[in-house]
Amino acid sequence: MPSYTAPVKDMQFVLHDVLKVTEQDIPGYDELEADFTSAILEEAGKISSEVLQPLNVVGDKEGCVLENGVVRTPTGFKEAFEQMKEGGWTALDCDPEYGGQGMPYIMGTAVGEMMVSANMAFNMYQGLTHGAYSAIHAHGTDEQKAKYLPKMVSCEWTGTMNLTEPHCGTDLGLMRTKAAPQDDGSYKISGQKIFISAGEHDMADNIIHLVLGKIEGGPEGIKGVSLFIVPKFLVNEDGSLGARNGVSVGSIEEKMGIHGNSTCVMNYDEATGYLLGTEHKGMRAMFTMMNEARLGVGLQGYAQAAVAYENAVIYANDRLQGRAVTGAENPDGPADPLIVHPDIRRNLMDQKSFVEGARAFTFWGAHLIDRHVRGGDEAADGLISLLTPVIKGFQTDKGFEYAVAAQQVYGGHGYIEEWGMSQFARDARIAMIYEGANGVQALDLVGRKLAQDGGKHVMAFFDLVKSFIKENAGNEAYDKAFLEPLKAASKDLQAAGMYFMQNGMKNPNHALAGSYDFMHMFGHVCLGLMWAKMGKAAMDALEGGASDKAFYETKIATGKYYMARQLPATGMHLARIESGADTVMALDAANF
Ligand SMILES: Cc1cc2nc3c(=O)[nH]c(=O)nc-3n(C[C@H](O)[C@H](O)[C@H](O)COP(=O)(O)OP(=O)(O)OC[C@H]3O[C@@H](n4cnc5c(N)ncnc54)[C@H](O)[C@@H]3O)c2cc1C
Repeated sequence: MPSYTAPVKDMQFVLHDVLKVTEQDIPGYDELEADFTSAILEEAGKISSEVLQPLNVVGDKEGCVLENGVVRTPTGFKEAFEQMKEGGWTALDCDPEYGGQGMPYIMGTAVGEMMVSANMAFNMYQGLTHGAYSAIHAHGTDEQKAKYLPKMVSCEWTGTMNLTEPHCGTDLGLMRTKAAPQDDGSYKISGQKIFISAGEHDMADNIIHLVLGKIEGGPEGIKGVSLFIVPKFLVNEDGSLGARNGVSVGSIEEKMGIHGNSTCVMNYDEATGYLLGTEHKGMRAMFTMMNEARLGVGLQGYAQAAVAYENAVIYANDRLQGRAVTGAENPDGPADPLIVHPDIRRNLMDQKSFVEGARAFTFWGAHLIDRHVRGGDEAADGLISLLTPVIKGFQTDKGFEYAVAAQQVYGGHGYIEEWGMSQFARDARIAMIYEGANGVQALDLVGRKLAQDGGKHVMAFFDLVKSFIKENAGNEAYDKAFLEPLKAASKDLQAAGMYFMQNGMKNPNHALAGSYDFMHMFGHVCLGLMWAKMGKAAMDALEGGASDKAFYETKIATGKYYMARQLPATGMHLARIESGADTVMALDAANF
């Protein structure tokens, strides 16, 4: 069965050597010294490996069961959830005014990676609650915040997000759920939502559903969508639980992975709901939750690849098959371990260089959010808005690809369930679909984010790459291994942007047919930038006489691999983009 050891040292490297979070002048960061962050990460690592990870397979095998309108979560989930709550893990980066610990988002992200690697399905109960907490925190009235947030911070009550309906997934303008205004200012919500993660379960006293619906008589389409708070149990003035609301679970879905999370059909039958934010501006409020969820899903992608990789390395060192072509490396044994073979190493290096690059990218994204939320840095907000579809789309595609690659290291043993490797691939697969399928992330990136605010944010990104290269050039070996490939890849990305500008106006298909390649290209450039930063940080540490030479040398070697073997993919993506839409759109629908 798989195991999980939290990569505390790698995380510390990103936090302190690369992002240098301690030196950042951001309100609320005073305590972010390496001693402090390592103590938190060590503890989070312990609960992840010892409590959550052993339940991963249990959740996969047992799944959730619906009995008499109640969903039973797998054996042990309830107790583990209690431990999470008691340890304060659900409140880590929440507002102290509502019982949170007020830590930066980047710490929540680091801890989140561990918990998702250990048990993705389990962590979703808390993850969705956090998203709903953020939406209420950003858009709720003082009364709503006081009523719901403290219990959601502690996860005594969990949260959900309800967008999808049977006929309406990506195109939310088609939504049919109705909201009828009542004399007391509340609404009666009626309709059906499907695929609602953590929609019903037995781990919390109440569930706070955030539900999108249309107020009767409002504008047509997406402009008429509003967001409502719909509690499973109504909440009395004194905060105690009142009557059962008109919301029930119709069924739970059988699915490919994340069996430990209940994916529910939710029926709203004149359920009492309370407007969150402004009438008809529901998408704005829901986007607070969705943007956070997209980053969380991007994290799920690489976190599954991370745990799959960790296990594949153990297996590759244990399993004896064949001999190294350059001479036996385990002459006393019947064969050499798999890890001697260049193709196994290629596979493992692909996984390792992606996982560590994606971790740095995600932490950087979280850091941008902290700089905006706590420091009012608008440029940081612009950048993270641009990069969110890249983090979500690129990292979940690659996360799945590398979870499958890790399975491959096991040969046939990766395909059978006994070794637990197929679960990582099955669980990772959903991340490419929910929170806006990846094709739609690419559409968002090219159709909206590139041109946002007159293209200011993408220009800021290119400037950032350019200044990094300028400021750090001068060491021949480093320039050649890191900066030159980064410069070339960034040039490819700019050329693609130029192609869209010159051709997309004439025919939007030319832009959209290349959008998926652009998203991947952008992802590679971001990871290239991260590796250039990590390479530099590792070199600096070695020059400064760091005691753990092997750790930093490994970082440099892994970075060199990414630059040499992964980053050149930008050239292929550019060629595809510049071939335009003609070959993509050539066939009549009837000829497919
Ligand atoms: C396990 C699971 C959990 C989920 N959890 C939740 C949840 O908690 N809350 C919730 O509200 N929803 C949830 N969902 C729903 C999920 O977010 C949707 O499935 C997803 O957004 C896609 O919608 P759809 O399935 O209707 O696909 P469709 O919208 O029908 O799209 C089908 C395909 O067409 C593509 N496509 C659609 N429109 C365009 C376009 N304009 N241009 C290019 N390509 C396009 C999409 O990328 C996709 O590949 C969950 C789904 C699953 C399976």
